[in-house]
Amino acid sequence: MLTDTHLRDRCGIVVGFSERSGGVSLPPYASLNLAGHVGDDPVDVDENRSRFVEALGLALMRDRLVTAQQVHGEAVREVTDAEAGFGAFAAKGQGPIAASDVLVTLTPETPLLMLYADCVPIVLVCEAPRAVAVVHAGWRGALASLPEKAATELALRCGVEASSLLAYVGPHIHECCYAVDRKLLSQFVSKFGNICAVDTRLDLGVVVARSLLAAGVIPEAMTGCDACTFNHAERFFSYRASTVTGRHGALAAITKAE
Ligand SMILES: [Zn+2]
Repeated sequence: MLTDTHLRDRCGIVVGFSERSGGVSLPPYASLNLAGHVGDDPVDVDENRSRFVEALGLALMRDRLVTAQQVHGEAVREVTDAEAGFGAFAAKGQGPIAASDVLVTLTPETPLLMLYADCVPIVLVCEAPRAVAVVHAGWRGALASLPEKAATELALRCGVEASSLLAYVGPHIHECCYAVDRKLLSQFVSKFGNICAVDTRLDLGVVVARSLLAAGVIPEAMTGCDACTFNHAERFFSYRASTVTGRHGALAAITKAE
């Protein structure tokens, strides 16, 4: 698990990216699969989600976890107290937030969870007023400048400049392993520059950074993760490495004001 304890100490916001280890799911979902839509046993998925939430010290918020039906779209949804617990459990209860790849909340004790296997997980944080956004950016979202939209929306809702936001970019497929067709690559190059192409491969990390920069997020406020999911399929889930697999997660939560 990847997290930032300094952020938590400073403002009570918890950010976490899960890995494959420490869960109860069997192959091909072994072991900490957090997704209920990939064919895994939903009871196991719920146990895995509980373990991840607990590992982040958020066990008391387990039932208020919020997930989304991720569709590679551009919708941004704000989560309020009324949606707390939507999609918290794969095996029971209220379903996830409908079609959305960006969740935003200013509500404490409402952890947001999105799921990934190669796509780019992004958590955006506003420290004052406290707010978080979780973004799911595959190539469609990246090409549509979804990171920029999410940062702009979060800043707007908080009444701050995007230059005051923090951005955490989690484990995703890197330019070493992400070959795409020439037509698609040329679309990225014309929008984000030559820097996002390496031979016939796409650097989604660069695209996301450029997109966040366009919103006004400063480079010093961006924290990345060096691991490529495809190269480290034993550590993270990778859809390109095996199409039937699980999903790791990105979670963000505002703890109760003390
Ligand atoms: Zn790689």
